[in-house]
Amino acid sequence: MLGMMMDRPLLIAPVIEYAARNFPDQEVVSGAVEGGVHRYTYVDAARRSRQMANALKALGVSPEDRVGTIAWNTYRHLELYYGISGIGAVCHTINPRLPADQFGYVVNHAKDQFLFIDLTFVPLVEKLQAMFEGVRGYVIMTDAEHMPETSLPNVHCYEDLLAAQSDELEWPEFDENTASSLCYTSGTTGNPKGVLYSHRSSLLHSLCVLATPGLDMGEEKALLPVVPMFHVNAWGVPYFALMVGAKIVFPGPRLDGASLSSLMNEEGVTDAWGVPTVWMGLLGHMRSTGEKFRSLSRVMIGGSAAPKAMMKEFQEKHGIDAIQGWGMTEMSPIGTISLVRPKDRDLPLDKQIDMKAKQGRAMFGVEMKIVDDSGKSLPHDGVAQGELLVRGPAVISGYYENPEASKKAFDADGWFRTGDVSRIDKEGYMEIVDRTKDVIKSGGEWISSIDLENAAVGHPEIAEAAVIGVPHPKWDERPLLVVVREANSSVDKAGVLQFLEDKIAKWQLPDDVVFVDELPHGATGKLQKAKLREDFKDFRLS
Ligand code: ADP
Repeated sequence: MLGMMMDRPLLIAPVIEYAARNFPDQEVVSGAVEGGVHRYTYVDAARRSRQMANALKALGVSPEDRVGTIAWNTYRHLELYYGISGIGAVCHTINPRLPADQFGYVVNHAKDQFLFIDLTFVPLVEKLQAMFEGVRGYVIMTDAEHMPETSLPNVHCYEDLLAAQSDELEWPEFDENTASSLCYTSGTTGNPKGVLYSHRSSLLHSLCVLATPGLDMGEEKALLPVVPMFHVNAWGVPYFALMVGAKIVFPGPRLDGASLSSLMNEEGVTDAWGVPTVWMGLLGHMRSTGEKFRSLSRVMIGGSAAPKAMMKEFQEKHGIDAIQGWGMTEMSPIGTISLVRPKDRDLPLDKQIDMKAKQGRAMFGVEMKIVDDSGKSLPHDGVAQGELLVRGPAVISGYYENPEASKKAFDADGWFRTGDVSRIDKEGYMEIVDRTKDVIKSGGEWISSIDLENAAVGHPEIAEAAVIGVPHPKWDERPLLVVVREANSSVDKAGVLQFLEDKIAKWQLPDDVVFVDELPHGATGKLQKAKLREDFKDFRLS
Protein backbone atom coordinates (compact mmCIF):
# COMPACT_ATOMS: atom_id res chain seq x y z
CA MET A 1 0.00 0.00 0.00
CA LEU A 2 1.37 3.42 -0.93
CA GLY A 3 1.29 6.35 1.47
CA MET A 4 -1.19 9.11 0.78
CA MET A 5 1.04 12.15 0.84
CA MET A 6 1.61 14.84 -1.77
CA ASP A 7 4.21 13.93 -4.31
CA ARG A 8 5.98 17.31 -4.38
CA PRO A 9 9.36 17.22 -6.12
CA LEU A 10 12.55 18.25 -4.29
CA LEU A 11 13.78 21.08 -6.54
CA ILE A 12 16.53 23.67 -6.17
CA ALA A 13 14.80 26.93 -7.20
CA PRO A 14 12.26 26.80 -4.35
CA VAL A 15 15.20 27.00 -1.90
CA ILE A 16 16.04 30.57 -2.88
CA GLU A 17 12.36 31.57 -2.89
CA TYR A 18 11.95 30.08 0.58
CA ALA A 19 15.03 31.98 1.77
CA ALA A 20 13.76 35.27 0.33
CA ARG A 21 10.33 34.85 1.94
CA ASN A 22 11.51 33.77 5.34
CA PHE A 23 14.82 35.59 5.82
CA PRO A 24 14.28 38.60 3.55
CA ASP A 25 16.91 40.83 5.15
CA GLN A 26 19.62 38.23 5.51
CA GLU A 27 22.77 39.27 3.70
CA VAL A 28 24.92 37.79 0.99
CA VAL A 29 28.30 39.54 1.06
CA SER A 30 30.94 38.99 -1.64
CA GLY A 31 34.52 39.99 -2.23
CA ALA A 32 33.80 41.48 -5.68
CA VAL A 33 35.99 40.52 -8.62
CA GLU A 34 36.06 44.19 -9.66
CA GLY A 35 37.40 45.06 -6.19
CA GLY A 36 35.76 46.03 -2.89
CA VAL A 37 32.87 44.28 -1.20
CA HIS A 38 29.40 43.73 -2.64
CA ARG A 39 26.40 43.16 -0.41
CA TYR A 40 22.73 42.50 -0.93
CA THR A 41 19.90 40.50 0.64
CA TYR A 42 18.31 37.14 -0.04
CA VAL A 43 15.41 39.01 -1.62
CA ASP A 44 17.83 40.56 -4.12
CA ALA A 45 19.48 37.18 -4.74
CA ALA A 46 16.11 35.57 -5.54
CA ARG A 47 15.03 38.48 -7.74
CA ARG A 48 18.25 38.44 -9.75
CA SER A 49 18.22 34.62 -10.04
CA ARG A 50 14.80 34.92 -11.67
CA GLN A 51 16.14 37.60 -14.01
CA MET A 52 19.07 35.33 -14.85
CA ALA A 53 16.70 32.45 -15.57
CA ASN A 54 14.77 34.71 -17.96
CA ALA A 55 18.05 35.84 -19.55
CA LEU A 56 19.11 32.23 -20.13
CA LYS A 57 15.81 31.49 -21.81
CA ALA A 58 16.26 34.58 -23.99
CA LEU A 59 19.68 33.26 -25.01
CA GLY A 60 17.97 30.08 -26.13
CA VAL A 61 19.07 27.84 -23.26
CA SER A 62 16.64 24.91 -22.97
CA PRO A 63 16.09 22.27 -20.29
CA GLU A 64 18.98 19.75 -20.20
CA ASP A 65 21.40 22.16 -21.93
CA ARG A 66 24.75 22.43 -20.16
CA VAL A 67 25.93 25.89 -19.20
CA GLY A 68 29.50 26.24 -17.95
CA THR A 69 30.75 28.58 -15.22
CA ILE A 70 34.37 29.58 -14.67
CA ALA A 71 33.99 31.73 -11.63
CA TRP A 72 34.98 32.56 -8.05
CA ASN A 73 32.66 32.35 -5.07
CA THR A 74 30.47 35.44 -5.50
CA TYR A 75 26.82 36.51 -5.61
CA ARG A 76 26.76 36.21 -9.40
CA HIS A 77 27.88 32.59 -9.23
CA LEU A 78 25.10 31.99 -6.69
CA GLU A 79 22.56 33.47 -9.13
CA LEU A 80 23.83 31.09 -11.81
CA TYR A 81 23.53 28.09 -9.47
CA TYR A 82 19.83 28.89 -9.03
CA GLY A 83 19.09 30.43 -12.44
CA ILE A 84 20.59 27.63 -14.54
CA SER A 85 19.35 24.67 -12.48
CA GLY A 86 16.02 26.40 -11.86
CA ILE A 87 15.00 26.26 -15.53
CA GLY A 88 15.99 22.59 -15.79
CA ALA A 89 19.36 23.24 -17.45
CA VAL A 90 22.61 21.88 -15.99
CA CYS A 91 25.12 24.12 -14.22
CA HIS A 92 28.55 22.80 -15.17
CA THR A 93 31.09 24.31 -12.78
CA ILE A 94 34.58 24.27 -14.29
CA ASN A 95 37.79 24.34 -12.30
CA PRO A 96 39.95 27.10 -13.84
CA ARG A 97 43.10 25.36 -12.64
CA LEU A 98 42.56 22.34 -14.89
CA PRO A 99 45.43 21.77 -17.32
CA ALA A 100 44.56 23.11 -20.82
CA ASP A 101 43.89 19.71 -22.42
CA GLN A 102 41.55 18.67 -19.59
CA PHE A 103 39.80 22.06 -19.69
CA GLY A 104 39.06 21.55 -23.39
CA TYR A 105 38.00 17.99 -22.72
CA VAL A 106 35.41 18.85 -20.06
CA VAL A 107 33.83 21.69 -22.07
CA ASN A 108 33.49 19.42 -25.11
CA HIS A 109 32.48 16.31 -23.19
CA ALA A 110 29.76 18.26 -21.37
CA LYS A 111 28.74 19.93 -24.67
CA ASP A 112 28.55 23.31 -22.94
CA GLN A 113 26.39 25.80 -24.87
CA PHE A 114 27.45 28.96 -23.06
CA LEU A 115 30.32 29.79 -20.74
CA PHE A 116 29.92 32.33 -17.93
CA ILE A 117 33.33 33.76 -17.06
CA ASP A 118 34.64 35.95 -14.27
CA LEU A 119 36.88 38.83 -15.42
CA THR A 120 39.95 37.09 -14.00
CA PHE A 121 39.53 34.15 -16.35
CA VAL A 122 38.84 35.98 -19.63
CA PRO A 123 42.49 35.76 -20.81
CA LEU A 124 42.56 32.03 -19.95
CA VAL A 125 39.36 31.33 -21.91
CA GLU A 126 40.59 33.42 -24.85
CA LYS A 127 43.66 31.20 -25.00
CA LEU A 128 41.66 27.95 -24.88
CA GLN A 129 38.70 29.06 -26.98
CA ALA A 130 39.88 27.39 -30.21
CA MET A 131 39.51 23.99 -28.51
CA PHE A 132 35.82 24.38 -27.72
CA GLU A 133 33.55 22.59 -30.19
CA GLY A 134 29.99 23.52 -29.31
CA VAL A 135 30.10 26.76 -27.30
CA ARG A 136 27.60 29.22 -28.77
CA GLY A 137 28.50 32.27 -26.72
CA TYR A 138 30.29 33.74 -23.72
CA VAL A 139 29.00 35.86 -20.86
CA ILE A 140 31.46 37.96 -18.91
CA MET A 141 30.37 38.26 -15.31
CA THR A 142 30.63 42.01 -14.82
CA ASP A 143 28.91 45.31 -15.65
CA ALA A 144 29.23 47.49 -18.76
CA GLU A 145 31.78 49.73 -17.08
CA HIS A 146 34.19 46.85 -16.48
CA MET A 147 33.69 44.98 -19.76
CA PRO A 148 37.14 44.19 -21.20
CA GLU A 149 38.29 44.22 -24.80
CA THR A 150 38.14 40.58 -25.81
CA SER A 151 38.76 38.32 -28.77
CA LEU A 152 35.95 35.99 -27.67
CA PRO A 153 33.12 35.71 -30.21
CA ASN A 154 29.47 36.31 -29.35
CA VAL A 155 30.17 37.96 -26.02
CA HIS A 156 27.59 39.30 -23.59
CA CYS A 157 27.84 41.40 -20.48
CA TYR A 158 26.22 39.74 -17.42
CA GLU A 159 24.66 42.88 -15.97
CA ASP A 160 23.29 43.99 -19.35
CA LEU A 161 21.70 40.57 -19.92
CA LEU A 162 20.11 40.75 -16.50
CA ALA A 163 18.89 44.34 -16.81
CA ALA A 164 17.00 43.47 -19.99
CA GLN A 165 14.83 40.92 -18.16
CA SER A 166 11.81 40.98 -15.89
CA ASP A 167 12.25 39.64 -12.37
CA GLU A 168 8.99 37.77 -12.60
CA LEU A 169 9.03 34.06 -13.27
CA GLU A 170 7.06 30.98 -12.31
CA TRP A 171 9.88 28.49 -11.81
CA PRO A 172 9.02 25.37 -13.83
CA GLU A 173 8.27 22.11 -12.04
CA PHE A 174 9.77 18.86 -13.22
CA ASP A 175 10.95 15.49 -11.98
CA GLU A 176 13.21 15.82 -8.94
CA ASN A 177 15.64 13.33 -10.52
CA THR A 178 16.38 15.83 -13.30
CA ALA A 179 20.09 16.71 -13.57
CA SER A 180 20.94 20.00 -11.84
CA SER A 181 24.70 20.36 -12.01
CA LEU A 182 27.83 18.73 -13.28
CA CYS A 183 31.31 18.62 -11.80
CA TYR A 184 34.30 16.72 -13.18
CA THR A 185 36.74 15.08 -10.80
CA SER A 186 40.27 16.16 -11.50
CA GLY A 187 41.58 12.69 -12.22
CA THR A 188 45.26 12.12 -11.55
CA THR A 189 45.44 9.84 -14.57
CA GLY A 190 43.33 9.96 -17.72
CA ASN A 191 40.56 12.41 -18.47
CA PRO A 192 38.36 13.90 -15.76
CA LYS A 193 35.15 12.01 -15.01
CA GLY A 194 31.79 13.78 -14.84
CA VAL A 195 29.59 13.59 -11.76
CA LEU A 196 26.04 14.62 -12.63
CA TYR A 197 24.03 15.72 -9.59
CA SER A 198 20.23 15.81 -9.52
CA HIS A 199 17.88 18.27 -7.82
CA ARG A 200 16.87 15.52 -5.43
CA SER A 201 20.44 14.49 -4.55
CA SER A 202 21.50 18.10 -4.01
CA LEU A 203 18.60 18.82 -1.67
CA LEU A 204 18.92 15.56 0.25
CA HIS A 205 22.65 16.15 0.67
CA SER A 206 21.96 19.61 2.07
CA LEU A 207 19.28 18.36 4.45
CA CYS A 208 21.61 15.61 5.67
CA VAL A 209 24.42 18.10 6.30
CA LEU A 210 22.02 20.21 8.35
CA ALA A 211 20.95 17.14 10.31
CA THR A 212 24.52 16.56 11.58
CA PRO A 213 24.40 16.67 15.39
CA GLY A 214 26.38 19.61 16.73
CA LEU A 215 26.89 21.37 13.39
CA ASP A 216 24.36 24.01 14.49
CA MET A 217 23.84 25.88 11.25
CA GLY A 218 21.24 28.63 11.55
CA GLU A 219 20.12 32.21 11.12
CA GLU A 220 22.62 33.49 13.67
CA LYS A 221 25.58 32.11 11.72
CA ALA A 222 27.74 33.86 9.10
CA LEU A 223 29.26 31.25 6.86
CA LEU A 224 32.36 31.75 4.71
CA PRO A 225 32.82 29.06 2.07
CA VAL A 226 36.46 29.30 0.98
CA VAL A 227 35.96 25.95 -0.71
CA PRO A 228 35.32 26.90 -4.33
CA MET A 229 31.94 26.89 -6.01
CA PHE A 230 33.78 25.55 -9.07
CA HIS A 231 34.37 22.32 -7.20
CA VAL A 232 31.57 20.09 -5.83
CA ASN A 233 29.14 22.92 -5.24
CA ALA A 234 31.30 24.41 -2.48
CA TRP A 235 30.43 21.38 -0.34
CA GLY A 236 26.73 22.29 -0.57
CA VAL A 237 27.03 25.65 1.23
CA PRO A 238 25.14 27.63 -1.48
CA TYR A 239 22.14 25.37 -0.91
CA PHE A 240 22.07 24.58 2.79
CA ALA A 241 23.00 28.07 4.07
CA LEU A 242 19.87 29.42 2.36
CA MET A 243 17.68 26.70 3.84
CA VAL A 244 18.47 27.89 7.39
CA GLY A 245 18.86 31.60 6.66
CA ALA A 246 22.58 31.90 7.49
CA LYS A 247 24.48 34.96 6.28
CA ILE A 248 26.81 33.98 3.43
CA VAL A 249 30.16 35.67 3.01
CA PHE A 250 31.76 34.81 -0.34
CA PRO A 251 35.49 35.49 -0.52
CA GLY A 252 35.62 36.22 -4.27
CA PRO A 253 39.08 36.01 -5.79
CA ARG A 254 41.16 36.99 -2.73
CA LEU A 255 42.00 33.85 -0.75
CA ASP A 256 45.27 34.86 0.93
CA GLY A 257 45.51 34.96 4.72
CA ALA A 258 45.37 38.77 5.01
CA SER A 259 42.25 39.11 2.82
CA LEU A 260 40.46 36.23 4.54
CA SER A 261 41.17 37.45 8.06
CA SER A 262 39.98 40.98 7.35
CA LEU A 263 36.81 39.75 5.59
CA MET A 264 36.12 37.39 8.50
CA ASN A 265 36.53 40.11 11.10
CA GLU A 266 34.63 42.80 9.21
CA GLU A 267 31.68 40.58 8.36
CA GLY A 268 31.42 38.73 11.69
CA VAL A 269 32.09 35.32 10.13
CA THR A 270 31.37 32.53 12.61
CA ASP A 271 32.03 29.43 10.49
CA ALA A 272 34.49 28.99 7.62
CA TRP A 273 34.87 25.96 5.36
CA GLY A 274 37.97 25.09 3.34
CA VAL A 275 40.89 22.81 2.58
CA PRO A 276 44.03 22.53 4.76
CA THR A 277 46.23 24.60 2.40
CA VAL A 278 43.94 27.62 2.79
CA TRP A 279 44.05 27.35 6.58
CA MET A 280 47.83 26.97 6.48
CA GLY A 281 48.00 30.36 4.74
CA LEU A 282 45.56 31.94 7.17
CA LEU A 283 47.29 30.63 10.30
CA GLY A 284 50.67 31.70 8.91
CA HIS A 285 49.29 35.22 8.45
CA MET A 286 47.89 35.32 11.99
CA ARG A 287 51.24 34.10 13.36
CA SER A 288 53.28 36.69 11.54
CA THR A 289 50.99 39.66 12.25
CA GLY A 290 49.68 38.71 15.69
CA GLU A 291 46.12 39.51 14.49
CA LYS A 292 43.17 37.99 16.33
CA PHE A 293 39.93 36.48 15.08
CA ARG A 294 37.03 38.58 16.38
CA SER A 295 34.06 36.35 15.56
CA LEU A 296 35.24 33.06 14.05
CA SER A 297 34.29 30.14 16.27
CA ARG A 298 34.59 27.13 13.98
CA VAL A 299 36.51 26.00 10.90
CA MET A 300 35.67 22.99 8.80
CA ILE A 301 38.75 21.31 7.35
CA GLY A 302 38.16 18.88 4.49
CA GLY A 303 39.31 17.61 1.12
CA SER A 304 42.55 16.23 2.61
CA ALA A 305 43.38 14.95 6.08
CA ALA A 306 43.29 17.68 8.73
CA PRO A 307 46.71 17.82 10.42
CA LYS A 308 46.51 17.60 14.22
CA ALA A 309 49.00 20.47 14.58
CA MET A 310 46.61 22.70 12.61
CA MET A 311 43.58 21.77 14.72
CA LYS A 312 45.62 22.36 17.86
CA GLU A 313 46.81 25.79 16.73
CA PHE A 314 43.24 26.87 15.93
CA GLN A 315 42.03 25.67 19.33
CA GLU A 316 44.89 26.66 21.63
CA LYS A 317 45.92 29.97 20.08
CA HIS A 318 42.56 31.21 18.86
CA GLY A 319 39.89 29.29 20.80
CA ILE A 320 38.44 28.02 17.51
CA ASP A 321 36.89 24.59 17.16
CA ALA A 322 38.46 22.92 14.12
CA ILE A 323 36.30 20.10 12.78
CA GLN A 324 36.94 17.73 9.90
CA GLY A 325 34.91 16.53 6.94
CA TRP A 326 35.64 13.70 4.54
CA GLY A 327 34.02 13.21 1.20
CA MET A 328 34.38 12.96 -2.54
CA THR A 329 33.07 14.71 -5.63
CA GLU A 330 31.13 11.49 -6.23
CA MET A 331 29.35 11.94 -2.86
CA SER A 332 28.05 15.51 -3.35
CA PRO A 333 30.61 15.60 -1.51
CA ILE A 334 30.25 15.08 2.26
CA GLY A 335 30.39 11.57 3.68
CA THR A 336 31.51 11.98 7.28
CA ILE A 337 31.91 14.83 9.74
CA SER A 338 34.15 14.73 12.80
CA LEU A 339 33.04 16.77 15.79
CA VAL A 340 33.65 16.35 19.50
CA ARG A 341 30.59 14.61 20.91
CA PRO A 342 28.93 15.89 24.12
CA LYS A 343 30.32 12.92 26.08
CA ASP A 344 33.90 13.77 25.04
CA ARG A 345 33.82 17.49 25.81
CA ASP A 346 35.55 17.06 29.17
CA LEU A 347 38.44 15.09 27.72
CA PRO A 348 41.86 16.79 27.64
CA LEU A 349 42.40 18.82 24.45
CA ASP A 350 44.89 16.34 22.98
CA LYS A 351 42.37 13.50 23.32
CA GLN A 352 39.66 15.62 21.70
CA ILE A 353 42.01 16.34 18.82
CA ASP A 354 42.83 12.63 18.50
CA MET A 355 39.08 12.06 18.03
CA LYS A 356 38.68 14.87 15.49
CA ALA A 357 41.73 13.68 13.57
CA LYS A 358 39.60 10.70 12.57
CA GLN A 359 37.40 11.55 9.61
CA GLY A 360 34.23 11.17 11.66
CA ARG A 361 30.83 9.57 11.68
CA ALA A 362 28.74 9.06 8.57
CA MET A 363 26.29 11.77 7.80
CA PHE A 364 22.68 10.57 7.86
CA GLY A 365 22.00 9.10 4.41
CA VAL A 366 25.51 7.71 3.93
CA GLU A 367 26.10 3.98 4.44
CA MET A 368 29.67 2.72 4.71
CA LYS A 369 31.35 -0.67 4.62
CA ILE A 370 34.97 -1.79 4.51
CA VAL A 371 36.04 -4.87 2.57
CA ASP A 372 39.14 -7.02 2.13
CA ASP A 373 40.80 -7.79 -1.21
CA SER A 374 38.20 -10.46 -1.99
CA GLY A 375 35.31 -8.06 -1.34
CA LYS A 376 34.36 -9.64 2.02
CA SER A 377 33.00 -7.18 4.60
CA LEU A 378 35.29 -6.50 7.55
CA PRO A 379 34.18 -5.79 11.12
CA HIS A 380 33.73 -2.22 12.38
CA ASP A 381 36.08 -2.77 15.32
CA GLY A 382 38.54 0.09 14.82
CA VAL A 383 41.28 -2.42 13.94
CA ALA A 384 40.38 -4.09 10.64
CA GLN A 385 41.24 -1.96 7.63
CA GLY A 386 40.15 -2.31 4.05
CA GLU A 387 38.74 -0.46 1.09
CA LEU A 388 35.86 1.83 1.96
CA LEU A 389 32.65 1.53 -0.06
CA VAL A 390 29.61 3.78 0.27
CA ARG A 391 26.07 4.15 -0.89
CA GLY A 392 23.31 6.70 -0.45
CA PRO A 393 20.90 8.99 -2.30
CA ALA A 394 23.62 11.62 -2.88
CA VAL A 395 26.25 9.13 -4.14
CA ILE A 396 26.76 8.67 -7.90
CA SER A 397 25.22 5.74 -9.74
CA GLY A 398 27.65 6.14 -12.69
CA TYR A 399 29.91 8.69 -14.37
CA TYR A 400 28.37 10.98 -16.98
CA GLU A 401 28.68 9.39 -20.44
CA ASN A 402 31.59 7.26 -19.35
CA PRO A 403 30.57 3.58 -19.22
CA GLU A 404 34.14 2.40 -18.89
CA ALA A 405 34.90 4.35 -15.71
CA SER A 406 31.42 3.52 -14.40
CA LYS A 407 32.03 -0.20 -14.79
CA LYS A 408 35.01 -0.19 -12.43
CA ALA A 409 33.50 2.11 -9.82
CA PHE A 410 31.00 -0.21 -8.12
CA ASP A 411 30.97 -3.64 -6.49
CA ALA A 412 28.50 -6.38 -7.44
CA ASP A 413 25.92 -5.00 -4.98
CA GLY A 414 26.11 -1.48 -6.39
CA TRP A 415 28.24 0.11 -3.64
CA PHE A 416 30.61 2.84 -4.81
CA ARG A 417 34.34 2.16 -4.36
CA THR A 418 35.94 5.22 -2.76
CA GLY A 419 39.55 4.15 -3.37
CA ASP A 420 40.26 5.00 0.27
CA VAL A 421 41.57 2.50 2.81
CA SER A 422 39.96 2.98 6.19
CA ARG A 423 39.00 1.65 9.59
CA ILE A 424 35.61 2.09 11.26
CA ASP A 425 35.27 1.79 15.04
CA LYS A 426 32.39 0.49 17.13
CA GLU A 427 30.94 3.98 17.54
CA GLY A 428 30.90 4.58 13.79
CA TYR A 429 34.02 6.77 13.62
CA MET A 430 35.74 6.27 10.28
CA GLU A 431 39.45 6.85 9.93
CA ILE A 432 41.14 7.15 6.56
CA VAL A 433 44.38 5.20 6.52
CA ASP A 434 45.31 6.27 3.01
CA ARG A 435 44.31 6.26 -0.64
CA THR A 436 44.63 2.69 -1.94
CA LYS A 437 47.17 4.07 -4.43
CA ASP A 438 49.23 5.90 -1.81
CA VAL A 439 49.51 3.40 1.02
CA ILE A 440 53.07 2.05 1.35
CA LYS A 441 53.31 -1.71 1.28
CA SER A 442 56.29 -2.68 3.34
CA GLY A 443 56.98 -6.39 3.88
CA GLY A 444 53.29 -7.29 3.77
CA GLU A 445 52.35 -4.53 6.22
CA TRP A 446 50.77 -1.20 5.34
CA ILE A 447 52.21 2.16 6.25
CA SER A 448 49.91 5.18 6.05
CA SER A 449 51.45 8.08 4.14
CA ILE A 450 48.84 10.36 5.75
CA ASP A 451 49.95 9.48 9.30
CA LEU A 452 53.57 10.22 8.46
CA GLU A 453 52.74 13.51 6.74
CA ASN A 454 50.51 14.52 9.59
CA ALA A 455 53.27 13.88 12.13
CA ALA A 456 55.91 15.64 10.00
CA VAL A 457 53.95 18.89 9.62
CA GLY A 458 53.80 19.04 13.42
CA HIS A 459 57.49 20.04 13.27
CA PRO A 460 57.61 23.82 13.67
CA GLU A 461 60.13 24.19 10.83
CA ILE A 462 58.25 22.05 8.29
CA ALA A 463 55.84 23.92 6.03
CA GLU A 464 54.56 20.95 4.02
CA ALA A 465 55.33 17.25 3.76
CA ALA A 466 54.53 14.36 1.44
CA VAL A 467 55.31 10.67 1.80
CA ILE A 468 55.59 8.21 -1.09
CA GLY A 469 56.66 4.60 -1.32
CA VAL A 470 59.93 3.89 -3.14
CA PRO A 471 61.09 0.43 -4.23
CA HIS A 472 63.16 -1.55 -1.72
CA PRO A 473 64.92 -4.86 -2.46
CA LYS A 474 63.91 -6.51 0.81
CA TRP A 475 60.65 -4.82 1.87
CA ASP A 476 59.10 -4.12 -1.58
CA GLU A 477 58.50 -0.50 -0.66
CA ARG A 478 59.69 1.88 2.01
CA PRO A 479 58.52 5.40 2.85
CA LEU A 480 60.38 8.45 1.56
CA LEU A 481 59.55 11.77 3.21
CA VAL A 482 59.69 14.84 0.96
CA VAL A 483 59.69 18.10 2.87
CA VAL A 484 59.32 21.82 2.24
CA ARG A 485 61.05 23.74 5.02
CA GLU A 486 59.70 26.96 6.54
CA ALA A 487 61.60 30.04 5.34
CA ASN A 488 64.95 30.44 7.12
CA SER A 489 64.89 26.91 8.52
CA SER A 490 67.94 24.69 8.23
CA VAL A 491 66.43 21.57 9.80
CA ASP A 492 68.13 18.45 8.41
CA LYS A 493 67.32 14.76 7.98
CA ALA A 494 68.57 13.80 11.44
CA GLY A 495 66.51 16.56 13.02
CA VAL A 496 63.33 15.47 11.22
CA LEU A 497 63.80 11.79 12.06
CA GLN A 498 64.49 12.59 15.68
CA PHE A 499 61.28 14.63 15.83
CA LEU A 500 59.27 11.72 14.41
CA GLU A 501 60.86 9.06 16.66
CA ASP A 502 58.35 9.23 19.51
CA LYS A 503 55.35 9.82 17.23
CA ILE A 504 55.63 6.97 14.76
CA ALA A 505 56.30 3.22 15.24
CA LYS A 506 59.98 2.54 14.53
CA TRP A 507 59.33 0.25 11.52
CA GLN A 508 57.18 2.92 9.90
CA LEU A 509 59.77 5.71 10.10
CA PRO A 510 60.78 7.06 6.68
CA ASP A 511 64.00 5.57 5.30
CA ASP A 512 65.08 8.90 3.92
CA VAL A 513 64.15 12.59 3.99
CA VAL A 514 64.53 14.85 0.96
CA PHE A 515 64.15 18.63 0.99
CA VAL A 516 62.49 20.45 -1.93
CA ASP A 517 61.38 24.04 -2.62
CA GLU A 518 57.81 23.07 -3.40
CA LEU A 519 55.50 20.08 -3.80
CA PRO A 520 53.26 19.45 -6.83
CA HIS A 521 49.56 20.30 -6.34
CA GLY A 522 46.58 19.45 -8.57
CA ALA A 523 43.67 21.60 -9.67
CA THR A 524 41.93 21.32 -6.29
CA GLY A 525 45.07 22.10 -4.31
CA LYS A 526 45.71 18.49 -3.33
CA LEU A 527 49.14 16.96 -3.30
CA GLN A 528 49.83 15.15 -6.55
CA LYS A 529 51.39 11.96 -5.29
CA ALA A 530 51.43 10.41 -8.79
CA LYS A 531 53.57 13.30 -10.04
CA LEU A 532 55.83 13.02 -7.01
CA ARG A 533 56.26 9.26 -7.54
CA GLU A 534 57.19 10.04 -11.15
CA ASP A 535 59.71 12.69 -10.01
CA PHE A 536 61.33 10.22 -7.61
CA LYS A 537 61.06 7.07 -9.69
CA ASP A 538 64.85 6.74 -9.95
CA PHE A 539 65.45 7.53 -6.31
CA ARG A 540 67.43 4.83 -4.52
CA LEU A 541 67.39 4.51 -0.77
CA SER A 542 70.86 4.74 0.71
P1 ADP B 1 39.37 15.52 -6.61
O1 ADP B 1 40.76 15.58 -6.02
O2 ADP B 1 39.28 14.87 -7.93
O3 ADP B 1 38.64 16.77 -6.50
P2 ADP B 1 37.77 14.69 -4.47
O4 ADP B 1 37.74 16.09 -4.02
O5 ADP B 1 36.53 13.99 -4.74
O6 ADP B 1 38.63 14.51 -5.72
O7 ADP B 1 38.70 13.88 -3.48
C1 ADP B 1 38.24 12.84 -2.71
C2 ADP B 1 39.35 12.22 -1.92
O8 ADP B 1 40.03 13.18 -1.12
C3 ADP B 1 38.86 11.19 -0.95
O9 ADP B 1 38.62 9.95 -1.56
C4 ADP B 1 40.00 11.14 0.06
O10 ADP B 1 41.05 10.33 -0.37
C5 ADP B 1 40.48 12.56 0.09
N1 ADP B 1 39.90 13.27 1.25
C6 ADP B 1 38.88 14.12 1.25
N2 ADP B 1 38.65 14.57 2.51
C7 ADP B 1 39.55 13.97 3.31
C8 ADP B 1 39.83 13.99 4.72
N3 ADP B 1 39.14 14.74 5.58
N4 ADP B 1 40.82 13.21 5.17
C9 ADP B 1 41.55 12.43 4.35
N5 ADP B 1 41.33 12.37 3.03
C10 ADP B 1 40.35 13.13 2.51
